[in-house]
Amino acid sequence: MDIFEKCTSNPSVQLANNSKKEGIYPYCHELQSKQDAVVKMEDKRCIMLGSNNYLGLTVNQEVIDAGKAALDEFGSGCSGSRFVNGTLSLHNKFERDIAEFLGKEDAVVFGTGFQTNLGIISAIAGRGDLVFSDKENHASIYDGCKLSYATMIRYNHNDMESLEQVLKEAPKDKGKLIVTDGVFSMTGDICKLPEIVKLAGKYKARVMVDDDHGFGVLGNYGRGTADYYGLSDKVDLLMGTFSKSLASMGGYCACSKEVANFLRHVSRPYIFCASTPPSGIATANKALDLIKRDDKRQKNLLKLAKYLKDSLDKKGIKHFKSYGDIVPVIPIYTYSAENTFKACSKLFDEGVYVNPVVPPAVPEGECLIRISLMANLTKKLIDEAVGKIEKVLKDLGAM
Ligand code: PMP
Repeated sequence: MDIFEKCTSNPSVQLANNSKKEGIYPYCHELQSKQDAVVKMEDKRCIMLGSNNYLGLTVNQEVIDAGKAALDEFGSGCSGSRFVNGTLSLHNKFERDIAEFLGKEDAVVFGTGFQTNLGIISAIAGRGDLVFSDKENHASIYDGCKLSYATMIRYNHNDMESLEQVLKEAPKDKGKLIVTDGVFSMTGDICKLPEIVKLAGKYKARVMVDDDHGFGVLGNYGRGTADYYGLSDKVDLLMGTFSKSLASMGGYCACSKEVANFLRHVSRPYIFCASTPPSGIATANKALDLIKRDDKRQKNLLKLAKYLKDSLDKKGIKHFKSYGDIVPVIPIYTYSAENTFKACSKLFDEGVYVNPVVPPAVPEGECLIRISLMANLTKKLIDEAVGKIEKVLKDLGAM
């Protein structure tokens, strides 16, 4: 058999190829402007309802200027990993700043959020250890578990009885780590951290939260899911990314000094991968400074999320009722992949960009269009977009 056979037979490829033939391919639209509330995409004006730029800081002039200054002072790249020649004063400063903001002793910066999860889990969990992972955790958590040689035990999404069941069945003498997204990226559910922390205490497990979608959004001044619950001191590993509220690219793990020291000497993505470039780390640090300075963007974002949900309700557009408080991730079920692609493509034609979510990101038959908001949007833009969503779903017979 030709090892390349899968390049045409793979189901995701077939779905993509068929959608191209039908003219409803929803991926990789070319952006010709900054990542803002309104963008230029393939020569068209589009309202951006599919970006994780929650606080809108990628277009903030202070953030952009910080990146330019870092380029001038430190050049374009680091040409080496954090472990050897790639640690700049900028990386160390960010680590101190984020650790202090999140109330942890130390923090370790990695090249991307994805690498951060690979780097934490594969270092902390080894052969013989057990990682208890929510079924809807991000792909990078799954891959971190695979790389770790530990046994991954999945529990039903946000189901604390299911988590307790698997913890109860596990041998007492094994090392245990419970990993959960803080805010789940596809559904906008908030994890049930108080129960998780309680179970971790009862069964002697450590706790890791991937707070990519909670940071900047929940908690005091956007400190995230653990702070929202008042449980920062009970989470051993607080992971986050630069690619959402921090308006850049990279990731961090905030933790104890002892764990940070361990990661710096054992974690392979930290040791063997080139570090975040000067402009990337400087922009993230400036975004963090702005987040600390005031919470007006966070407050506006949450107001807009409530406004959008209310507008959808008024129009009778069914959206997923997420667990917990309002967050700026609002999925609308479209069920089949075909309907999802059609909805995204028609919305794109109407000048609204949303993300299609199809398997393997969600189970078969549970496809959705994922709306994510940014603080730079306005009620007027949301009204315009909701009107178009209503029209497209009606035309598709999907509401
Ligand atoms: N964790 C979660 C929950 C995510 O949603 C993502 C990316 N969307 C990642 C990790 C990976 O982060 P990055 O894209 O910054 O590498």
